Amino acid sequence: MASKFFEKSRKERIDEVSKFANLTPEERQILEGAGGIGFDQADKMVENAIGTFSFPLGIATNFVINNKEYLVPMVIEEPSVIAAASKAAKIAKIHGGFRMQNEESYSIGQIQIINVNIKEAIPKILSHTKEILDLANTKSNTLSKMGKGAKQVSCKEITTPSGPMLIVELLIDVGDAMGANVTNTMCEGVAPLVEQITGGKALLRILSNYSTRRLVSGTATFDKEELGGEQTVDNIILAYQFADNDEYRAVTHNKGIMNGIIAAANATGQDTRAIEAAAHAYAAKSGKYRSLTQWNKDKDGNLVGKIELPMSVGVVGGIINVHPMAKVCAKILQIKSASELACVIAAVGLAQNFSAIRALASEGIQKGHMKLHARNIAAAAGATPDQIDAIAAKMVQEGKISINRARELVGS
Ligand code: NAD
Repeated sequence: MASKFFEKSRKERIDEVSKFANLTPEERQILEGAGGIGFDQADKMVENAIGTFSFPLGIATNFVINNKEYLVPMVIEEPSVIAAASKAAKIAKIHGGFRMQNEESYSIGQIQIINVNIKEAIPKILSHTKEILDLANTKSNTLSKMGKGAKQVSCKEITTPSGPMLIVELLIDVGDAMGANVTNTMCEGVAPLVEQITGGKALLRILSNYSTRRLVSGTATFDKEELGGEQTVDNIILAYQFADNDEYRAVTHNKGIMNGIIAAANATGQDTRAIEAAAHAYAAKSGKYRSLTQWNKDKDGNLVGKIELPMSVGVVGGIINVHPMAKVCAKILQIKSASELACVIAAVGLAQNFSAIRALASEGIQKGHMKLHARNIAAAAGATPDQIDAIAAKMVQEGKISINRARELVGS
């Protein structure tokens, strides 16, 4: 399946993807089109729209996640990312691929209560838990019918420069949606009742994007011989330890993970800002910003990677069922649930991190990266599509990849 995908023509790639995902002729046409939405749809999505803006959509191959094969659509402008993910997935496949888990899909809604006696308010709120949950659940018939919806009320006191504050939190099982709107609606819906119970005033009523009750985690084993031998395994572990103990390295290390995560999330129409914000907060959960992954060796000396982060994604809601390309990408993935999507996205993050630290801990990333980057430089220098590859190759061969050299080559 999908061997030498990178050598195929666009048509052959689309053929392969269509066959793999059983796409209809209409869905295939969307892939062949200009990016999914026209101006009319854009105009309905945002304010003051004047157009649309396309990004490359590519396919990462070789992914086996929880024993299922995937072709992973990725939307990203940065060269090397899709190739790196595919290469990592190929190595991971030798030892069974990625084993991922995502057990809960609870979103957290927060209601800020001011002008209140906190010590007295907390027991009052907790004694009205059922009433608050019942009221919250009237805001979504769909979730209620599914046995999902608001499940728990909790309270916490925070200290601020203006004094202590009461924060009431709703824990909501949002099923297969990201759940931002339903969470906000429930928070706004129960706020007057909370005011009535406490005698305080509800100020903010909003979802928390720090979705620590929607964690996805998983692991993959990378064969030591395939990745370059024991020394490379040891060097990768040292590279990880550098990231885990130095914020300046950790931010870049985690950015590499997000290259994979955001590209896969973009393709399926997720709110990537929410994923990104939660990921970085989670990286700092110990009080120090650290790596989102951990790397160690197994008893045979193979490299074992682990990832854990919050993943607030949906397969319904938002633009997921509106954007034609996002719909086709979800079909290519053949995902059945938000939980499955979270597993796929996090696996791509782990794969991406593997490739980045492997390259960094061996030949360095510039060799591979600049080869691809040279094509962008050639295009920026005004090379025509049939000149780009030759100019990029020449610059790589000369070891001089720059806009000035590309301009000279375009002019020669
Ligand atoms: P939504 O409100 O469009 O859809 C979710 C709804 O789908 C649910 O309320 C439910 O009624 C229905 N539904 C049908 N089948 C379901 C199933 N199997 N599981 C769960 N729900 C099902 O979307 P949303 O997920 O509430 O919100 C996502 C959008 O909100 C994104 O576009 C995001 O950018 C935006 N948003 C984000 C924030 C934030 O992150 N802070 C705040 C506001 C809005």
